Amino acid sequence: MDTDVLVIGGGPGGSAVAAHLARRGHRVIVVERDVLPRPEGFGVLLTPRSLAALQQLELSDLESFHRVRHVRLTCDDRSTSTTWPSHPHFPPYAAVASRQVFDQSLIHAAVSEGATLLAGHEATDPIVERGFARGANVTSRDGRSFEVRASYTIVADGANSRFGRALGTYRKPTWPYAVAQRVTYRSPLHDASEVELMLDLRDRAGTPITGYGWMLPAGDGTVTVGVMMMSTSPSFRVVNPTHLLAQVIDDHRSRWHLDPEPINSGGGGRIPLGLSVGPSAGPTYLLVGDAVGAANPLSGAGIESALETGTIAAEVVDEALQSGSAAALQRYTRLLAERYGPFYKVGRLSNRVLGQPPMSPRIGRLVAKRRLAADAFVRLATNELRPGRAGIAELTYRIGHTATLIAPDA
Ligand SMILES: Cc1cc2nc3c(=O)[nH]c(=O)nc-3n(C[C@H](O)[C@H](O)[C@H](O)COP(=O)(O)OP(=O)(O)OC[C@H]3O[C@@H](n4cnc5c(N)ncnc54)[C@H](O)[C@@H]3O)c2cc1C
Repeated sequence: MDTDVLVIGGGPGGSAVAAHLARRGHRVIVVERDVLPRPEGFGVLLTPRSLAALQQLELSDLESFHRVRHVRLTCDDRSTSTTWPSHPHFPPYAAVASRQVFDQSLIHAAVSEGATLLAGHEATDPIVERGFARGANVTSRDGRSFEVRASYTIVADGANSRFGRALGTYRKPTWPYAVAQRVTYRSPLHDASEVELMLDLRDRAGTPITGYGWMLPAGDGTVTVGVMMMSTSPSFRVVNPTHLLAQVIDDHRSRWHLDPEPINSGGGGRIPLGLSVGPSAGPTYLLVGDAVGAANPLSGAGIESALETGTIAAEVVDEALQSGSAAALQRYTRLLAERYGPFYKVGRLSNRVLGQPPMSPRIGRLVAKRRLAADAFVRLATNELRPGRAGIAELTYRIGHTATLIAPDA
């Protein structure tokens, strides 16, 4: 097969690139290892940034996702509810969607724009000629192997990114990453318009863990419970995320009226953070989403950055195809640095500071007690700082930014 653009992976990042490029009239093939739709649906949080990127894609199912207008922050016996921040570029609410429905609707958007989807097909290794990536060898579930040759390749194969590694990418080993685990229950509170974040994770010895737990009501009869643990936590290597999740469920089950048994077996994985994987561009390929480690280093949210990096990648590949010159791809790394650079640096440094034992419970208790602190915390964690404004979140960010100037390796 022969195409303009080959996209490896049909998750949020790959689907976003494919939809944007197919809409602009380019020939796009998406290779997705899984057979779609996937069997299990977990609720995922679509932050205001994610929703803005989905509006740009004109996703038809967007209105059907369950809107959440409030965030409850809980720490020990304290709890505050706040609204999502107002921002000139993002909606003042978030949404929760079943991951199965969300992924399906995104890939459907790409196919409706004209992209070809090869689901149940794995890209096994890149085709490299004279140092240039020219597509991939692909194997179907029934064992057929063939080549897909392309002018440009988008690596959107997620956190472990085997395809990226085959092209020479690597994750900076000293930068923070996260692990997350989740499971879904039926609950009569499934249509609550509030998500809850629990900021008081502790290991069995009572040592604070940097990260948070969450309750996501999806409006479809289910609530997904999850935990996110940052690698900067003192006991990161010895805490089992499944046990941590079980602890969170025990602590919050009765308030959320969770059924005794979950409806799925749960799942989880690693999330590389803060653009920790690179190089993000080669002469004929680009990395997007988790493949480039693009998730927000403060919150671990990776869908928004998968959609956004996918949109930026589509712009430069479009330019390369229109101009007939691959030089446009070299702008990608700079565009990522402009969009995320300073904020992600502050985020990585904050992640390390929060890993110092007294810090995360102190901040957790403060934001779960004072509404103004809660507002600032949510605005900062979701990267919704307002240009030219001097609220608590923006001032805190400026202090963090000054600190990064004397911590060059942050
Ligand atoms: C437990 C957990 C909960 C999370 N919850 C949230 C949340 O609520 N909100 C949020 O914003 N983020 C959340 N995240 C992070 C988010 O899931 C990821 O950051 C996001 O999915 C990244 O999108 P992506 O397209 O880059 O990669 P992925 O979503 O991982 O998609 C990669 C795709 O590539 C396919 N693939 C891989 N290798 C190949 C190959 N060789 N050939 C063909 N196909 C291939 C995979 O099957 C997959 O479909 C969570 C993560 C975890 C682990």
